[in-house]
Amino acid sequence: MTAQRIGVMGGTFDPIHLGHLRAASAVADSLDLDRVIFVPAREPWHRGEQPGASADDRFEMTRLAVVIDPRFAVSRVDLERPGPTFTIDTLADLQGANPLDLASSGDEWFFITGADALAGFMTWRDPLGILELAHLVGVTRPGHALQAIELPTGSCTLVEAPGLDISSTQVRERVREGADIADLVPGPVADYIAERGLYSKGAS
Ligand code: NAP
Repeated sequence: MTAQRIGVMGGTFDPIHLGHLRAASAVADSLDLDRVIFVPAREPWHRGEQPGASADDRFEMTRLAVVIDPRFAVSRVDLERPGPTFTIDTLADLQGANPLDLASSGDEWFFITGADALAGFMTWRDPLGILELAHLVGVTRPGHALQAIELPTGSCTLVEAPGLDISSTQVRERVREGADIADLVPGPVADYIAERGLYSKGAS
């Protein structure tokens, strides 16, 4: 298999929205990526607040969303590993026994996430190990002031994603208010949220 440039789009995706999809397209275009694997996190280790939707629902919404671009795929690696999600494990699992059979030696890997999430990168588990496995890509919302990210020189590329002026918080708030989310998430994701009653006032 020819070597590929593979992006790993890490996030809680609670829920996935059009901003995430546009950001992944912008990064894939600008860094010439062959694939972008979306990896919903099981338990974001650093959060006090747990996700509003279960891991299986967040995976299913991500699976429904990624069909829009043939470069996109979704992986369950973070959901199948018990305990909190650490990016060092995400990358090691994807690059080792790869269930999607997408990898070969010689591939170049890129870990993509929100630039805000990368602000604390040097406190993550084994940050230097992560940098041996992947180049970091931080996506930024237009007009959003960037926090200073202290990272080894050349280890991270920032990409402004014009479509990232949407947040998962905004989607959850709109659902709670009973407002329309058709302009924020793909149609099948909006349908899934409605059918499962996710994020509504009475949802657990
Ligand atoms: P977060 O702190 O919930 O998100 C911070 C900001 O980044 C939010 O504005 C969020 O917007 C945005 N964001 C998150 N993922 C994004 C993505 N893929 N593309 C564009 N924007 C994104 O971050 P998180 O979701 O918990 O974590 C992000 C990734 O970093 C996950 O893969 C997580 O496992 C990893 N991480 C690893 C460690 C570690 O290894 N110790 C520590 C922290 C995070 P939305 O809410 O709209 O997405």
